[in-house]
Amino acid sequence: MTDVDPRRLIPRTDHLMALPEVAAARERLGDTRIRTVIRDLQDRARRGELPPEQVSRAVVDRLGSTPSTSLHPVLNATGVIVHTNLGRAPLSEAAVAAVAAATGYVDVELDLATGARSRRGAATRDALLRSCPAAQDALVVNNGAAALVLATTALARDREVVISRGEMIEIGAGFRLTDLMASTGARLREIGTTNRTHLHDYADAIDDDTGCVVKVHPSNFRVEGFTSAVPLPDLHHLCRERRVPLVVDLGSGLLAPDPLLPDEPDAATALAAGADLVIASGDKLLGGPQAGLLLGTAELIGRLARHPLARAVRADKLALAALEATLIGPIPPVTRFLHADPEHLHRRTDRLAAAVGAPVVPHDGRVGGGGAPGVPLPGLAVRLPEAAAKALRLGDPAVLARVHDGACLLDLRCIPDADDDRLTDAVQRALTSIGTRD
Ligand SMILES: *Cc1c(COP(=O)(O)O)cnc(C)c1O
Repeated sequence: MTDVDPRRLIPRTDHLMALPEVAAARERLGDTRIRTVIRDLQDRARRGELPPEQVSRAVVDRLGSTPSTSLHPVLNATGVIVHTNLGRAPLSEAAVAAVAAATGYVDVELDLATGARSRRGAATRDALLRSCPAAQDALVVNNGAAALVLATTALARDREVVISRGEMIEIGAGFRLTDLMASTGARLREIGTTNRTHLHDYADAIDDDTGCVVKVHPSNFRVEGFTSAVPLPDLHHLCRERRVPLVVDLGSGLLAPDPLLPDEPDAATALAAGADLVIASGDKLLGGPQAGLLLGTAELIGRLARHPLARAVRADKLALAALEATLIGPIPPVTRFLHADPEHLHRRTDRLAAAVGAPVVPHDGRVGGGGAPGVPLPGLAVRLPEAAAKALRLGDPAVLARVHDGACLLDLRCIPDADDDRLTDAVQRALTSIGTRD
């Protein structure tokens, strides 16, 4: 009797690559990733951890469950609508379809009627101007930070940017808007104090060396008590008199006022009050893709668009497509979540609580992403033991809950109705895995 070394029974790479299921997965995953999976499972078989005759099956199974990228879709049960760690605004179905349609060759910079080159993203610009008629012209760049860098570079490089000390903010992950502006070669001329800045502070600071006045919406914190900031119309009169551009960084991306967020500034109001240039993000309250929106006078937008830096921060075709669809299409998820009907939210929360045997507690959602700081969005949450949070994060689908006061809270505000059943199943599995259920 001769013993065959079981390792000789491990299927060879070319045999595995030729399996119909593996050939089919090549379109989606590519050769390199498939070979990595094959090598890993062959190694396991060599170490005796996997019977050789099961290698083929294991390869097919593993490829079937290998996602195209390492990003995991997450159900956002935090109640925070614009969650930066979760990629901010989820796109509307219309925007998703627009992105898919733009992935191939598209006429992003071509006039099909004449065959000549056209202005890049002209349709997106038109959509922006229709949504914000107070602007004479618009330009879309990569993100809000890029818009601010472009504006300060074009208007104030080697000159001064006048800014109130009450508006020198850090926007997250250690990034400070002031450092960003200073990196362009503009000099910051800080005026006023943290809590109070007056019109005469601006008037004293503006001189021949002023490139622009920047007014930043302090979007992620609030100063209360003995405070004073200069209203835009007053600043507008001063800037016009001194012939200095007035740039307003709104952050949040509201194009028009939202009655639910009375303190949140919007582009239409800022332009009407005399801003020459307004800067906002596309993926905050606007509910679109990552983008930086510049809205303002034809003269300033033209100057920015012609600046060499504009080419380095230009928006890609996928963002332009998603932004246009967000502006002209159905109400985006961010707006729906913000204006969620309380009774409907109540019914859904009760249903989840009953299905998993957990209590309902009052819970305030938030705008997040540096918008409407301190403004609660009253709602509800299902309360689970704290240990459920980790099991939920690591489950499939991954669920991000809010951990607060020793509990794991599930707020349904930012979960689409269509995902309620998946969420219920995920919660049941999480509770079973932490042993509160058998
Ligand atoms: C968020 C924010 C930015 C940065 O915008 P991004 O799109 O994240 O680059 C700039 N200014 C303010 C006031 C903001 O709130």
